[in-house]
Parts: sequence; structure tokens; C-alpha cells
Amino acid sequence: MDMNTISDFDPGDVRLPGGHFIGGSPVAGGQWDIEVNRPSDGLLLGAVPDGDADLVDRAVQNAHQALQDSGWDRRPPRERARILRRWADLIDEHSLTLGRLEAVSSTRPIHDCILHEVPFTAEAIRFFAECADKYSGDLLPTRGGSLGLLAPEPYGVVGAITPWNFPLSMASWKCGPALAAGNAVVLKPSELTPFSTLYLAELAIQAGLPAGVLNIVNGYGASTGSALVRHPLVRKVSFTGSTATGAVVMSEAAHHGMKPATLELGGKSPQLVFEDAGDIREVASRIAKGFTSNAGQACVAGTRLIVQRRIAAALVEAVAEAVAELRPGLTWQAATRYAPLINGRQADKVHEAVQASIAAGARVLTGGDFFEGTGGGFFYRPTILTEVDANTPAVRDEIFGPVLTVQVFDDEDEGIALAGHPVYGLAAGVHTQDLGRALRATRALAAGTVWVNRYGRTHDFIVPTGGFNGSGVGKDLGRQAFEANLRHKSVLIDFD
Ligand code: NAD
Repeated sequence: MDMNTISDFDPGDVRLPGGHFIGGSPVAGGQWDIEVNRPSDGLLLGAVPDGDADLVDRAVQNAHQALQDSGWDRRPPRERARILRRWADLIDEHSLTLGRLEAVSSTRPIHDCILHEVPFTAEAIRFFAECADKYSGDLLPTRGGSLGLLAPEPYGVVGAITPWNFPLSMASWKCGPALAAGNAVVLKPSELTPFSTLYLAELAIQAGLPAGVLNIVNGYGASTGSALVRHPLVRKVSFTGSTATGAVVMSEAAHHGMKPATLELGGKSPQLVFEDAGDIREVASRIAKGFTSNAGQACVAGTRLIVQRRIAAALVEAVAEAVAELRPGLTWQAATRYAPLINGRQADKVHEAVQASIAAGARVLTGGDFFEGTGGGFFYRPTILTEVDANTPAVRDEIFGPVLTVQVFDDEDEGIALAGHPVYGLAAGVHTQDLGRALRATRALAAGTVWVNRYGRTHDFIVPTGGFNGSGVGKDLGRQAFEANLRHKSVLIDFD
């Protein structure tokens, strides 16, 4: 769909899917007391039920049985691929419906949903569909008279948990590789943004996915999410969310069946800019987008600018100019480019971190407060803080808001040292025209992804994503994500 077809719409016209999604149909179960608000204006959008442990058990049992009945795990991989490709095509065909649903219920403006989020979701599923018959385990060089195999097989039921910041694409990163590898999935979306994932599951059934092979359960993390992680028939866990929750999930996965867990967690990513980075405006535009995209509510948000002294003043001024153009708007208006914060709680967290940083000596170059006159929505001004150090809250903590800190360095080693973080290692940007310097920095940085002379993801799904240190364990995307949804059986056959 091209940009000309994106138009304003009435959020009241958007149909909300309801309940949980089990065995191929919406089902009730639990009190419908999880109220979901529209981030743009804070008004009540709808509600979903809070699934308890029995409901989770029903979904997992259903997925387990659906695997047996449908033989999804034993079907020719190309048949699985065909169904997943059809799912991706349906996602594209329903782009407007899905995009509007996502726009009204999440922080993503309709423009971003239609042009980026929905096609990105469809293409990620297509990428994993293509993996279905491209991976073959190993034939092992064993002694004569025997055949040694390393035979991959799916785990069975994968328990997946997603965050609120990119509901659709996060669901595709979990479901795509797990389903392509022959698993069933029970997915719990964030209680803040459950609706688009339910619609995604409806489309999967229309595409021919056997009923029950993808089930969605709604509920809170500490109850529904935890019950899913602990369920004995869930053999692998795939989680995206904060580092604190990831630690709980890892511990529960270990204590309840020693399940492997892919954990995609938080970040505090540096943008390391050397004096030979090239055109200042072009670099400034990258830095500006890196911390204001989705109002900073992105795991890989590049929120720590670390810049060499000779260009520091000019670059910071250019970044401030670039972000000055951003205006808040309702997510259902076609012209909106700047996202609201998800809710009042997140708004408090962002503002408190800025206030605490100021109290610790930071200076506000621009922003530092909310846009005014935005009704019930919380739109935070793009904020740039200078005179900070490693102990400043905004440098140390993942804020998940549009806040950039600026630190200045003189030589390469100092810049690389400042780019390091004691907890996180998710992503990093390196900006320099000197190839040797780019490679030295890339090697030195403890980050799961390093972008050189760019910042942000592309449709190159072959590039895995995942964090080092406190930012996670394992990879989403890439061949690695597909392989992580398979376990390997060692087989030795004597034939003489
Ligand atoms: P969160 O950790 O609060 O919640 C994530 C999900 O986990 C939600 O569905 C929640 O209900 C569930 N949950 C909460 N407690 C649980 C528990 N005890 N057991 C099982 N599930 C539980 O995170 P959030 O606020 O929704 O998302 C923002 C965070 O996600 C940020 O830290 C961000 O960096 C991270 N994130 C990481 C990536 C990545 O690829 N590394 C991508 C997107 C977001």
C-alpha cells in the first residue's frame, strides 16, 4: 500500500477482536477486567479477559493436541512454508484493517503502521517460511559400519511472550520461526496492546494453519505469563520484554522443566560519532530518528550520543534542529509522525528520569517536559541532556522515552570506553568514514548488533538480532532464530 492511500480514520469504526484465541476461535475465559486505553488520547478502547492458570492450561493442552491431530510437525516443510507464506500474503491484503487496529491501540501512527509495521511483519513471516526446508542438521563422520546423524526436531509447544512497543512485528518474530520449524505456539501479548495479535491469529487460520497450532492467551504477566512459562507441556520459551522480567522468566523456565529460553531484553544503546563521520546534517538526522522513533519506545533506541569534541557542538545543534520539527498527533491521523507514550505510568517514568538527571547535574538543551494541549495523551518533547556522566540516571537506565544524553570524547579509546555500558549490550551505532576505525570500534563494542554509518533495522531478516549481557540471550531473526526453535537428536545406527 502506498502513502497516498493512507488517510485519517475514525477510531470508533475499528472492530476489536475479543477474548483469547484457542483452537482456531475466539473464546472467553476470566474476568474481562483488563481495560485497554488508546495511547493517543487515553480514552477507553475496550477490554480483554484475564486468563488464569486453567485458561493457560486449556490453551497449551489444545496446542499439544493440535500438533498430534494435525501432524503440523511432520508435514512436508514446503507445506508449512506455503501456509505461512499465505499468512504473510493475508497480512498484506488486510494491511489497512490491521494497520488501523494497531494505530488505534498502540503508539504507532497509522503512517508507520501501513508503511512499516504491517509489511515488516508480513515479510518476517515470509523469511521464516523460506527457512522451513533450508536447514538439515548434520551427517556425522562416525566409525565404519555405522551412520551418525544430528537430527533436528521441533520442541512441541513454544510459549511466547511479547511486549507492547511493536505488538505485530514482535509476534511475527516469535511465531514465524517457531511455526516454520514445526512447533505449536501459545502466545501471550502485552496486556496493554492485545488486539492486533488476536487479529493476526485469525488470519493465520484463514491461511490454513491448523486450528490450535497458534493460540493466543490474554492476561497479566505475573499470572498468565508466568503460568505459560511454567506449564509442563511448554518445552521452550521465547520472551521479549524488559531485563527485569527476563530474569524472572529465565529463572522460572529453569525451575519448571529446564526449558531453553530466548530472551530479547532492554537496552541503552550508544551512538558513537567520530569527527570524520561525514555530513553533519545527515548524521544528525540518523541520531534524531534513532532516539525519537516511536518516541524512544524501542529496545534499540540510540539514546546515548557519544561524540568527538571537534564536531560535538555542531552535531548537537543539528540534532536539536532536526527534532524541533516533530509535532505530536493522534495515531489515526495520516500526517502524524511522532508517537505518544503508551500510558501515564510510562509518562511518569520518563519525566521522573529526566528530573532525576537534572537533579544530578544534567542540563536540558531542549525538551524536558510534555507537549501541551494534547488532551488525554502523553507526548513527551524530544529531550537532549548535556553535562551528564555514567552515573546520571538518563545515561544509566533504560528510560523508554525520547531522551538523548550527550557525552564528548577526545580520542578513539575514550570514545569506545564511554560507549560501553555496565548492564546492557543490545545495539550500537558507529559513525565514521575511516574503515579501520569502524572495524576497531565494532570489535571493541559489547553489543549484539553494531550498525555502521546507519541506525536501525532493514528488511534484511537474515541479520539476527539479540543482546549481549543484560540485553538478552539468543537471537530473534536470522537463521539462528529458526534453529533455536529446533532441538537436536544425536542418532547412531549400526548397519554392519
Ligand atoms: P515487560 O517486561 O514489562 O513485559 C513484557 C511482557 O512480559 C508482557 O507481555 C508482560 O505481560 C509479560 N510479563 C510481565 N511479567 C511477567 C512474568 N513474571 N512472567 C511472564 N511474563 C511476564 O516489558 P514491556 O514494558 O512490555 O516492554 C518494554 C521492554 O521490552 C523494554 O525493556 C524493551 O527494551 C524491551 N524490548 C526488547 C526488544 C528486543 O528485541 N530486545 C524488543 C522490544 C522490546
